[in-house]
Amino acid sequence: MILTQTQYRRQILDSTGFFGSYGGCFVPEVLLPNLQEMALAFDAIKSDAAFLAEYTQTLQQFSGRPTPLTPLPRLSAALGGARLFLKNEGLNHTGAHKINHCIGQVLLAKRLGKTRIIAETGAGQHGYATAAVCARLGLDCTVYMGLKDYERQRPNVYWMELLGARVIAVEAGEQTLNDAVIAAFKDWVAHPEETYYLLGSAVGPHPYPAMNTFFQKIVGEEIRSQCLELNGRLPDACVACVGGGSNALGMFFDFLDAEQVRLIGVEAGGRGTSPGTHAAKVLHGLPGIFEGYHSYFLQDGDGNIAATHSVSAGLDYCGVSPILAWLADVGRVEFATAGDAEALDAVQTLARTEGIIPALESAHAFAHAFKLAAEMPPDAIIVVNASGRGEKDLFITMQHFQPESLRRYAAGLL
Ligand SMILES: *Cc1c(COP(=O)(O)O)cnc(C)c1O
Repeated sequence: MILTQTQYRRQILDSTGFFGSYGGCFVPEVLLPNLQEMALAFDAIKSDAAFLAEYTQTLQQFSGRPTPLTPLPRLSAALGGARLFLKNEGLNHTGAHKINHCIGQVLLAKRLGKTRIIAETGAGQHGYATAAVCARLGLDCTVYMGLKDYERQRPNVYWMELLGARVIAVEAGEQTLNDAVIAAFKDWVAHPEETYYLLGSAVGPHPYPAMNTFFQKIVGEEIRSQCLELNGRLPDACVACVGGGSNALGMFFDFLDAEQVRLIGVEAGGRGTSPGTHAAKVLHGLPGIFEGYHSYFLQDGDGNIAATHSVSAGLDYCGVSPILAWLADVGRVEFATAGDAEALDAVQTLARTEGIIPALESAHAFAHAFKLAAEMPPDAIIVVNASGRGEKDLFITMQHFQPESLRRYAAGLL
């Protein structure tokens, strides 16, 4: 059943943090006051004209919004089906949609009188966007990163430090993203007064899922008006990749009540369907509670968090937004997967036919959209969210397409 947009707004943006049975705020008691303070502030800013004006102005002046909706005529002709369009979130400052919710949250932190931002990052993209916004708006910034990620994502560590952030390598556990999250939570517990924890997707305890959806929904609002202007009608399908779910929810939110618009989330199919080889939470995960919220997680038979894999770091995460878990269960958002190899192919196809190099994350959405386009009639319109640009993936795509060049380049550097 499709609800009205007012009902979706109430269920998602104005909720107390539960989306069906998903969501919630399962955190240590010491953090509850902080999250409650944040939830109250989020409630207030949703209708605060001065706040919203500053948020919109910062998006325009600092990040370059609105981003274009680009027709892909050569690619559409080659696929021989529906007309494809791309929403180019990769043209945002720092290269992806992530800056939308970073700007919103840093402005909220300032309003709360916080002087210090902490964040966790896996591949470094969220840390990079956070560090840039903190520098711009004058807040102290600390980013936690698992030691393994710290070492293999050296360029992003460098950018964060150049932007004035302190990057802390976490030596505990597996030395990856989940350990960075735990370290950031510990920091927050120790310094709750002055610190704002800036979470990088529509996941985590209330109010983060609703709040980050709110700060990302500008993407779908722009798509709606751009598509109406270009085509005189709404798209037939919107396709986005799903890591935690923020770019997908940002794209989908404004279309939730438009029954004729199919909304499709594409998860990382990795190398296969056996445990540890993919990151498809909705399609292969189980409900559970982790990192403060109830949603689908990849788990082993004992309910422990399972290993994940994706060629794209941004999709390589064990959980998914509780809002998407709910929208999947009620049938409003469809889910599919695209594998590592399909995503790499899609990068090359889009680069060669349209001159745009997408992020590997976004390439999962393209890989699925290519198949979908071929099945749909020529007058159908499909919009794909290019959540980010591909420059950050230089070493991964080069290793795939030109391994010998990469080897020689790396040898020259060392
Ligand atoms: C981080 C990232 C993603 C995945 O995060 P979501 O919250 O699912 O959007 C997707 N694309 C790009 C380019 C990213 O940097």
